[in-house]
Amino acid sequence: MLAMNYRGPRRVRVDHKPYPEILHPNDAIVRVTRSCICGSDLHLYHGMVPDTRVGTTFGHEFIGIVEEVGPSVEKLKKGDHVLVPFNIACGACAFCKQGLYGNCHESNPEATAVGGIFGYSHTAGGYDGGQAEYVRVPYADVGPTIIPADMDPDDAVLLTDVVPTGYQAAEMGGIKPGDTVVVFGAGPIGIMAAKCAWLFGAGRVIIIDHLEYRLEFARQYAQCEAYNFRSLEDPVLFLKRETGWLGADVCIDAVGADAAGSALHTITGKKLMLQAGAAIALHWAINSVKKGGILSIVGVYGPTGNLIPIGNVVNKGITIRANQASVKRLLPRLIKHVQDGYIDPKGLITHRMPLEEVADAYHIFSSKLDNCIKTVLIPSS
Ligand code: NAD
Ligand code: ZN
Repeated sequence: MLAMNYRGPRRVRVDHKPYPEILHPNDAIVRVTRSCICGSDLHLYHGMVPDTRVGTTFGHEFIGIVEEVGPSVEKLKKGDHVLVPFNIACGACAFCKQGLYGNCHESNPEATAVGGIFGYSHTAGGYDGGQAEYVRVPYADVGPTIIPADMDPDDAVLLTDVVPTGYQAAEMGGIKPGDTVVVFGAGPIGIMAAKCAWLFGAGRVIIIDHLEYRLEFARQYAQCEAYNFRSLEDPVLFLKRETGWLGADVCIDAVGADAAGSALHTITGKKLMLQAGAAIALHWAINSVKKGGILSIVGVYGPTGNLIPIGNVVNKGITIRANQASVKRLLPRLIKHVQDGYIDPKGLITHRMPLEEVADAYHIFSSKLDNCIKTVLIPSS
């Protein structure tokens, strides 16, 4: 079968790889019909995630058709159209039982933090991902969800990560009616977080990025205010001024470690060139949230982040909530929001490319070329 193959930082290609096998009785094999490239894949692509091994296949956002099921699988059968949450979750451990499907113990027992994730390095369990023609799906009775017959596959594929992560970013913010919410990062996750902030009663939603095309997209898609941090002398000062000097009620970090190392800007007034992996958005978020406010972090970091003003967290009494999204927990309500038309996930898709063009697809998404917001890879088989 054809599959994306990681060769080292910034080097990916499509290769022939063996068809995946059923390894456990509760596995399924899914023929992938669509898979996306995520901002999280850029951390892998840029070599920022520990233990990302050459030869592995990325891809944690995918849908497809069940091809085979192991002997103990009860809820799926060959031919079912499924969307597969990016978290690999056993459904039975202490964390899954609390709804923390992103922190499943069984799917990644050696890790101290994250649960298993498709195609996300050996740090996240070493599972191959769905940027391929076929993929092995463990715990097939737990995560995979039948796609409603009337749902567009382009909507379904974004329910595997982008919609739940954006929604959970807003949910973790504990937004109260009338709150001012500032979202850092106008990628698919930040735009979805801004859109979902209104669902929780936000009174004002502001998004910050430096890519004009994304800011314009966010204004249209999420009906929010959008500002370019490169044209602001100091984003923190700007946000303070905009909020009557109190600060935002809620800040959302939808950037994470700057995968492309593109953030050249100010920290406390000084121009600094930041290396890839810098946490400048997190720094701004901590400094622009109000005293006693809430900081919701969905941006992904390596095990350590730098330049984090932890003293300001303590002195301002900020509550920090952070996690990988718990996709399975959120799917029932999010499927409804898609069906009732409030959320239009496919509206984020700007690029549809054959799986064979995976190298170009990564380059375009990573370098933010061609007004790219979200890319879907389509296997030809
Ligand atoms: P993306 O690369 O498309 O978007 C990131 C955006 O942040 C870009 O538009 C970039 O210009 C902007 N940016 C960079 N530095 C900035 C700064 N200092 N201030 C404001 N904006 C800045 O990625 P995405 O797909 O939208 O993902 C965003 C983040 O969410 C990534 O870190 C990704 O790993 C993470 N993520 C987390 C989860 C989860 O479950 N927690 C799930 C999916 C993605
Ligand atoms: Zn993702």
